[in-house]
This record gives sequence, C-alpha cells and structure tokens, in this order.
Amino acid sequence: MSCAAKRKRGGKSSYRFRTLPEVLPPPPPPLPHAPPQDPLPDITPWVQGNCGIRGVHHFESHRPGPHIAITALMHGNEYAGAGALAHLLATPLTPTRGRLSLIFLNPDAYAAFDPRHPSRFRYIEEDMNRLWAPKLIHSTHTSQEMQRVRELVPVIDTVDVLLDLHTMTWPSAPLLLTSMAERNLRMANTLACQQADPPQVVLDQGHPTGPRLIDYERFSTPSGTARACLLEAGQHWTRSATQHSLSMARAFLAQHGMGPPLPTTPHQGGINAVVTDCVEAHTAGFAFLRRYTGGDIIESAQTLIAVDGMDEIRTPYDNCMLVIPNLRPRRGHTAVRLARLL
Ligand SMILES: [Zn+2]
Repeated sequence: MSCAAKRKRGGKSSYRFRTLPEVLPPPPPPLPHAPPQDPLPDITPWVQGNCGIRGVHHFESHRPGPHIAITALMHGNEYAGAGALAHLLATPLTPTRGRLSLIFLNPDAYAAFDPRHPSRFRYIEEDMNRLWAPKLIHSTHTSQEMQRVRELVPVIDTVDVLLDLHTMTWPSAPLLLTSMAERNLRMANTLACQQADPPQVVLDQGHPTGPRLIDYERFSTPSGTARACLLEAGQHWTRSATQHSLSMARAFLAQHGMGPPLPTTPHQGGINAVVTDCVEAHTAGFAFLRRYTGGDIIESAQTLIAVDGMDEIRTPYDNCMLVIPNLRPRRGHTAVRLARLL
C-alpha cells in the first residue's frame, strides 16, 4: 500500500498512518542501566547555600550588570550539572559585574537518588520541570517540588540570563533546547559556537503537561528581554556528560564576563532545528525500527521509523531530526520529537 493511500489518524498528524504495519519492529531494548562512570558528586558542602535559600549561591560584583544563573538538579537522577556547579564552587568566584547565582534546584531528589533505580528519583512527588506557570505557582496546588519552585521564584524573577543543566536517559548527542523566542536561539547559538564540537540547537514549544523553567514567562514572552536555554549534555551518568556540562557552564560564564575568557576562537555554528511534532505512544507496543540516537537526521520524507499498534510512524519531511527518542516509551508518553532543520 502506498503512503498516500494510508489514512492519517484524525486527519491531523502528518507522521502517523493507520494501517496494518508492513514491518515487525524488533522488541524495544531494555532501559539503559550502565553504572555511573565516575563517583557521584558530593554536594553536601553546598546544599546549605549562602543566602538563606537552600542550594542557592549568590556572588555579587557590587557593580551594575546582568544577573546570570546556572541551575542544575532539576531532576534528581541528572547529576552531571551538579558536578559542574560543585567544580565551579570549589574555586572562588568573583564576577566583575552584575550578580552570579549557582543553584541546586532539587537537592532532596538527588539525596534520594540510587543508581540501582535509574529513573525513580527524577523527582520526589512530581516533575519539577513542568511547574513553571504563574497560575500554578499562585494556586493552592502543593507538593514537595511545588514548594521548592515557590522558594526559588523570587530569585528566578530577577535572573536575566539562565542556563539549566540536564542529561538524558538514552544515548544522544548533546543539544541545547530553547523556547521559541528569537533571543533564546541567539543565546544558544553563541554558546554552541564556543564548544569544540557545537551541540545541536533545538527550538521547541515545550511539553503539553506543563512549562519548563526555560518556558517560564520571564524567559519566553516575545516582548521580554530575559533569556534561557537548557543543555541536554548527553546520557545520564557518563563522564562526557559531566565534561560537556562543565564546558558549557564555563562558556556561559565567559560570555558574560564572569569567568576567564575561553582560549578557543568561536567555531562555526552547528545545526539549528525547530520541533514540529511531538510523537506520543498511543499503545504499549510502540517500537522503533532501529535503535535511533538523539540527533539522528532521517534523510527522506515518509521513512518508516516506528510502529505503534496499528499505526505506522513516518517522517513527515526530508532531513527530519529525531530529538530525544525514548526507545521504550510508556503509553501516553512522548516517544520522540520531530524537528525540521532551519
Ligand atoms: Zn532533566
């Protein structure tokens, strides 16, 4: 049967086709379970903070300038960024202008983290990176993470430029994610060009389940000036993810005159892409045809990449980038985001 003859589900998506799949995909691989490549970072000296808010460190220049912030441990099992912050905190930080903040977002989730259960301690009660909506913050909704967001909001509300450090479950090239505001794309591109191997820069609209910190109004409204981007530094617990996190944090500090200038000259920019579709697993049987890696670019439109029950998932256009494919998605969860190269 030709693709054109296949009926699109609900007539809306350009990647999902209801048919009897012609190919039987291999069974999904088991969840990655490699042990940490290095000892877990010890953040106990830093958990207290230096300004009366747990996990928050401020460094003042007492001169005019922007408030820049690096945040880590939004998710308790993604500790590469915490290692980078601990490394930066181990040497005296003296910004020459403005204010610098280094923030451990959810130290309680990290304290509960146990490598034998790779994804259990992403959070304690709910995903802290879906709670950055003013309406929610001012509501009666409560959880450990919601309380933590409320503790941090007074600080975040004064940040001009923010870098949020994360890692990923499945193997993937590092990437910088931004909301759709043009100024965030420019920020991410400048950061990417400071890396020897520039990460891909991906714009997306965020998650339907709630705004991330980088989607917080302050950073994402078209008329605003504050900027933010999120680094996915590679796979959880790998040495390279810690190295990428530290390298990006240093580039970020240098970019704002708060660290030694980088010895390298800017590299040519990498690949920019914009997310067009969020592919959700409709069945427990969702399976990819291959073990795709985040950042893979599928050359031809209509390439079959996955099967979901009676549906085929095909790339909607040429040169379609796969963003953070989840090779074992649960029903109702995002399996992959599809991005068009800019
Ligand atoms: Zn994360």
